Amino acid sequence: MRFSMLPQVFVQMFKKPFTNKFPAKYTPSSTTKFVEKIQNGTVTIHPPVPIPEHFRGKIRYDKDKCIGCKLCIKVCPSEAIEFKEEEKKIKIFLARCTFCSQCNDICPVSCLSMSDDFLLADTDKYSKNLIVE
Ligand code: SF4
Ligand code: SF4
Repeated sequence: MRFSMLPQVFVQMFKKPFTNKFPAKYTPSSTTKFVEKIQNGTVTIHPPVPIPEHFRGKIRYDKDKCIGCKLCIKVCPSEAIEFKEEEKKIKIFLARCTFCSQCNDICPVSCLSMSDDFLLADTDKYSKNLIVE
């Protein structure tokens, strides 16, 4: 069992890294120096890595299509979805979400989908950007 990963480890040794030396290969110690170097052309900024197909970013919710069946709540492993009884609609707390896409897969009316948006860092877990409703 412990050695079953060895072929994968071996394959990975010869693959290019998936990460990007962003924004530049050799970043100088100060931001000012870095900007100066970009301006005089001695440093080139690397373009960001393209978002891969089927990327699971921030959930999109088409509220009008939602029929309030609660199936998404039942399958969510991290209890990130709440039901708004008065509206018969849902509210997703992205700070709890693991982006597994199970809610998206089970929704009978396809009103949930995973977007390409990954800029979700925030100091407040209840910020507007981290709540989908
Ligand atoms: S993507 Fe997964 S964790 Fe996030 S809300 Fe949907 S079911 Fe829950
Ligand atoms: S599974 Fe879809 S239709 Fe059902 S409550 Fe969730 S979002 Fe609404």
